[in-house]
Amino acid sequence: MKSTAVIIGGGLGGLFTGAILSKEGVGVTVIEKNATPGGGLQSFVRHGETFDTGMHVIAGMHEGGNIRRICDYLGITDKIHIKDVDSDVIDSLYFAQDKKTYRIASGKENFINSLAEEFPHQRKNLENYVKALYDIVSEIDLFYLRASETFMPIHGEDFMMSVQDFIAKYISDEKLRSILAYMNPLYGGRDNMTPAYLHSLIAVLYINGPSRFAGGSVLFANTLVELIRENGGEVILADGVSKVFSQERRITGVLTRKGRRLEADWYVCAIHPCTFFQLLDEPSVLPKAYRTRLDNLPNSYSAFTMNIKLKPGTFRYFNYSMYYMSRYDRIWDFDRADVKWPLGFLCMTPPEIEQGEFSTKLIITAPMVWEHVKKWENTTVGHRGEEYEKWKQECSETLLNMIEELFPNIRDCILEINTASPLTIRDYYGVKEGSMCGFSKDWKNITISQVPVITKVKNLLMTGQNCNAHGFCGVPLTAINTCEVILGKNYVLDRINKI
Ligand SMILES: Cc1cc2nc3c(=O)[nH]c(=O)nc-3n(C[C@H](O)[C@H](O)[C@H](O)COP(=O)(O)OP(=O)(O)OC[C@H]3O[C@@H](n4cnc5c(N)ncnc54)[C@H](O)[C@@H]3O)c2cc1C
Repeated sequence: MKSTAVIIGGGLGGLFTGAILSKEGVGVTVIEKNATPGGGLQSFVRHGETFDTGMHVIAGMHEGGNIRRICDYLGITDKIHIKDVDSDVIDSLYFAQDKKTYRIASGKENFINSLAEEFPHQRKNLENYVKALYDIVSEIDLFYLRASETFMPIHGEDFMMSVQDFIAKYISDEKLRSILAYMNPLYGGRDNMTPAYLHSLIAVLYINGPSRFAGGSVLFANTLVELIRENGGEVILADGVSKVFSQERRITGVLTRKGRRLEADWYVCAIHPCTFFQLLDEPSVLPKAYRTRLDNLPNSYSAFTMNIKLKPGTFRYFNYSMYYMSRYDRIWDFDRADVKWPLGFLCMTPPEIEQGEFSTKLIITAPMVWEHVKKWENTTVGHRGEEYEKWKQECSETLLNMIEELFPNIRDCILEINTASPLTIRDYYGVKEGSMCGFSKDWKNITISQVPVITKVKNLLMTGQNCNAHGFCGVPLTAINTCEVILGKNYVLDRINKI
């Protein structure tokens, strides 16, 4: 064993970090508070149906894709169940304002063609826009798993501008600008705050072709858990960390809720940093300025989710995502508490491993800001009271009325409905304000809204969605950064590139 590491949090970041470190001979212990591993990869079974809680759409898993290559290196590619989304329609966008539907295709050419059909006068602009997206992403070495020797990467003008300015720079048609911003809830988008590079990362991943987990995202989490265990590591479930001990700018151990005390050479925080600060026996081990900065950073907004169990044989499976948007001019307003909820939602039939013609479940995710549930913030799962249950019921009804515009007979197909609010996300993932994508990134000061993987505490590292980028494609890349602090610069990238 090279050294030992305790990883706090068994979500996407904790499990990828644990998988890489254990593969490279580090003695790893991952501690996860929930009985089910995975964080955003968790699934739950309700009324006999498996529902995924977080990650519904993923990317980077096609042959040669960055996350696929990490999985190849870990030796798990053959064990995972992924289904690609249709290439001729990756996303179908419905705008209630004019009852118009746009169908977006994957691949650079097809993506441009699918929109140029509706906006022929914008074809050249679309070509330039797509080129700019790819140019921005090509500046990020880690995205392409390229070893980087640059101490301070210099970025182009587009990289650092706001997403709104970036889209407006290339696209002159107002309606098309709104359409191109449709995926902003996938990165917690804020028009005058989100940097263009974040939009570009997600857009490029989508244009390259998204996929989805088949049979439940937890299968992927289980594969990572098995791998860590096969590599000699330990994954503790249903026992969260309750205290983190420190002495003279070093972490000296952690205590779990069930009373286990664990010590290691390295400690990796794979939970929300603000949740982590509350576990420290001596908060001043981390500089006050650092804690205050992160405590005050805005978090991306949350979501209200409806998990619908459908009557067998009544609802056709569709192999893409559907977006419902109320108005073109409201496309950037998901972060506003003062507008009528919901402005829109994402809707899909998640695939089974052996998917037939009909689906047995429909998932609706509608962005929602924390203010909607703030009055119940001091309640816990299962004890939130009647008023909360009534409110959830009303939210479901509102959503169902909108879903009927897409599927007029939806109510006849429903067997059961289960809902989750931002409070559910906060309490299951341990994420501040139930944030979907962690801290909001700000183009005006990118370094301030990011968390480096190293800290002022020599043996404490950070990983997860708050460090660089969130989601299935961001978090595993940051795990490489985190692991390379222990294993050596470019060590993991070199190993991946040798395959
Ligand atoms: C509703 C929703 C939909 C989303 N959809 C998508 C999507 O379609 N595609 C996509 O790519 N991304 C999506 N995301 C984002 C994605 O889920 C996150 O970016 C990703 O899960 C973050 O990984 P992480 O490891 O940083 O945190 P998490 O996955 O949240 O993991 C943190 C883990 O730490 C555990 N934990 C917390 N406190 C403690 C403690 N004290 N001790 C031990 N363990 C602890 C938690 O239980 C959790 O398992 C979605 C998120 C949400 C909420």
